Amino acid sequence: MTAGRGPYAQYRAILSDFVQSVKQQADIVKVIEGYIRLRKAGAQNYTGLCPFHKEKSPSFSVHAVRQFYHCFGCGVSGDVFSFVGKIENVGFPEAVRTVAQKCGIPLPKREFSSPEEAAEARLRGRLLELHETAAAWFSEQLQGPEGALAREYLSGRGLTPQGIKTFGIGYAPDSFSALRDRLGATADPETLRASGLFSAKEQGDGSLGPIYDRFRKRVMFPIANEGGRVIAFTARTLESGDKAGPKYINSPETPLYSKGQVLFNLDKAKAAIRQAGYALLVEGQMDCISLFLRGIKHVIATSGTAFTEQQVAILKRHTSNVVVNFDPDAAGAKAAEKSIALLTEEGFNIKVVTLEDGLDPDRFIRERGVEAYTVAVMGARRQSDYLIERARQMFSGGSAEQKVKAVNYLLPHIRRIPDKLVRDQFAADASQKLGINSAVLREELRQAALRRRDHIEVRSTSLTEVEKVMLKALAITDPAHEAARRKAVAAIMDQPELFESLGAVRALQNLAGRGARDPMEVVEDSAQRALLAETLLAEIEAPSETDVEGAIVSLQQRQFEGHLRDMRAQIAEAERRGDFTELTALTQRKLDLDRALRKLHSRVPHGA
Ligand SMILES: [Zn+2]
Repeated sequence: MTAGRGPYAQYRAILSDFVQSVKQQADIVKVIEGYIRLRKAGAQNYTGLCPFHKEKSPSFSVHAVRQFYHCFGCGVSGDVFSFVGKIENVGFPEAVRTVAQKCGIPLPKREFSSPEEAAEARLRGRLLELHETAAAWFSEQLQGPEGALAREYLSGRGLTPQGIKTFGIGYAPDSFSALRDRLGATADPETLRASGLFSAKEQGDGSLGPIYDRFRKRVMFPIANEGGRVIAFTARTLESGDKAGPKYINSPETPLYSKGQVLFNLDKAKAAIRQAGYALLVEGQMDCISLFLRGIKHVIATSGTAFTEQQVAILKRHTSNVVVNFDPDAAGAKAAEKSIALLTEEGFNIKVVTLEDGLDPDRFIRERGVEAYTVAVMGARRQSDYLIERARQMFSGGSAEQKVKAVNYLLPHIRRIPDKLVRDQFAADASQKLGINSAVLREELRQAALRRRDHIEVRSTSLTEVEKVMLKALAITDPAHEAARRKAVAAIMDQPELFESLGAVRALQNLAGRGARDPMEVVEDSAQRALLAETLLAEIEAPSETDVEGAIVSLQQRQFEGHLRDMRAQIAEAERRGDFTELTALTQRKLDLDRALRKLHSRVPHGA
């Protein structure tokens, strides 16, 4: 459909008013604080760790009055909608809706900018409803006659009816069509297919056959998104022997669910994580459920496999401290190591719990009690101690060869740590605890601590005072200072050559032509946007007309000085050639320039 025509044009108009009203009512600082921790860094500024790139010191800024964010590390910037769109990975209309909901602003009836967006949002909405209905139905089945075996399994794992309710655990009966029959009347076949709740066999001609229930004779654990809505399921089989298939299966990737982007239980745990100041990370969902129901509420699970980068990024929004408690078996140790590696690179402080007698968290807390578990968590070792201990166990014996192996095992772990001091300490501890006397190995460890491929941050170049005044003047949105903005716009339109040599010239030109648009939206080049953001974040007052005039005069002055330098060179050249006619003309022009420059000097206000 062509833009501006059809029924969507009128919704766009409604949307545009709505967007403006949401933008006025939403507080960007509050909205962003729902995702990452911010610290006040000035009267109007807040800073925090950027959720969009890896960093250990904050280069992400939010301006409370101007209502925009900017990251000096990776260059992202924008308004509250752009932030929510990026972090939730949704389009503009959905970002607007999300912000509106967060701020309690009622939504207009329709607000999609295209039929495709409307269809996508509709599908996601339908899928959420299907999951809700399915979860409720699975719960019913668990309580019904068919659920007896599942109930027995769950109570055998120490789950009370209350716990089952808290986590919405259910049961998928041993049938290929029971859920299909339940949901069939409420959705069309395409939507059912997209939900991931069903399977279909490929036919001879490559097309898919009729759908049937994907989960059969399995205990159903709902997986929720950060907002607590069910988006997928993990299903544990109750079958044994050859028929059983995999012990656990998950929903496939759907428009709602992407495995690597969800942390199990984060919706319930996030408040407790912030309160405790750290997250307890376990492998299995049962471990997670078991700990949570016994009052250890800041617990989340990776759902079996190793951590993904997206999961680390999500966690980073809530805390930088993690206590890892994976299963003590070899697979658990490997998973722990991989997760530790990823968390280390992101600058997390990590501790590792190893439970006595090879117990997993679920069994440990059930057999030894909450207090014993809490003590074990308090006794968690620093990651360096944990890794050094592991190196000692794997390469024991104390021979020179074993020590080389142990050091080689530790080197990549050390190199991964972003903080130099922490690396140094780790290397020193390793030397000492592994009893390394060899100068060569000590040197290897020292070098590992020294060298790290450091993340290069794209810091903007510093601005001159003139540029700051001009940028700030052009970005003025307050009508009280409109005269200063007009003056700046006029100067850039009428005397473009004055600004050509400035580093921020493109930002200045974009801003001069921005009209009523938001300053941060018109500058597209990321380096130039960084310059603008830097200026807007600096706590300097909006320039007055006099300030702008002063800036323009000092640019003119600079221009004249340039001309004068040229003139002097030309005069010297004319003298060398003995061309007196030329020399006289040049000297006269130089005198005019000198005079003009003196006049300018007298106009330069103090400080510009
Ligand atoms: Zn960034």
